[in-house]
Amino acid sequence: MSISGGTRLAAVIGSPVKHSLSPAIHNAAFAARGLDWTFVAFDVPSGGGAAAVAGVRALGLGGLSVTMPLKAEAATAVDVLSDDARALGAVNCVVPDASILRGENTDGAGFVDALRIDEGVDPAGLRCVVLGAGGAARAVIRALGGAGAVAVLVVNRTPSNAADAALLAGDAGAVADVSAVNDADLVVNATPAGMRGGPDHLPVDPGRFHAGQIVMDLVYRPAGTPLLAAAGVWGARTIAGDGMLVY
Ligand code: NDP
Repeated sequence: MSISGGTRLAAVIGSPVKHSLSPAIHNAAFAARGLDWTFVAFDVPSGGGAAAVAGVRALGLGGLSVTMPLKAEAATAVDVLSDDARALGAVNCVVPDASILRGENTDGAGFVDALRIDEGVDPAGLRCVVLGAGGAARAVIRALGGAGAVAVLVVNRTPSNAADAALLAGDAGAVADVSAVNDADLVVNATPAGMRGGPDHLPVDPGRFHAGQIVMDLVYRPAGTPLLAAAGVWGARTIAGDGMLVY
């Protein structure tokens, strides 16, 4: 890679961001397409999101990826929001469009694309359980509702957050307790449980899983999370979260 006076710059902002996979993913894509672009990571702590987004305009950046804890701040700092970003109150991509900064949220579409394109799984008609009700869960819940899941059941340790998130799936959305896992076609872990590894960090008792089910873990580090390892032992088909990240 050579940097010249004409090289375009794109970046990810968030904190911590040192271990982000985004520079590797985007720089590989730029190289594959022969583009004179480069992608870096800026550690921007909470409270710095608006200034960082303003920097896109000031510096003429090619685009910005936004990760924790800045997705809500970015949503208030852009000029216009996509339907998904508005519904979720969170932006993960800032796209310069002439003089306008457009805020997008690609988490839900990335989740569905990872299922459909990489795994051949269509959520339409499936009975789904989502564990968690935070930012990633909300994007997944909305996407499953939009993709025609017959049920999107939200299981979360704080019930009020589950109720709020379930609304995003429309008529298919509801709050449930953990027993809903037993009868689900698709179970999605959208809690951070498992990020630190170890068998104690499971969001649900894996004895509830069985053959015929699909279990997807949005946690993508470590690869082969404790949840996926345990779900596989109980006969479920397992899907890792890195496909969603890439899409
Ligand atoms: P948030 O902090 O927004 O939400 C976390 C959710 O998990 C909340 O509902 C919270 O419950 C629940 N939770 C947190 N800790 C625990 C615990 N120990 N046990 C049970 N529930 C818990 O996080 P995000 O939604 O942004 O991220 C969640 C995970 O998804 C992360 O691991 C992240 O890396 C991953 N992710 C993966 C993506 C991908 O592309 N694969 C994209 C985005 C995120 P409560 O409501 O009670 O606080």
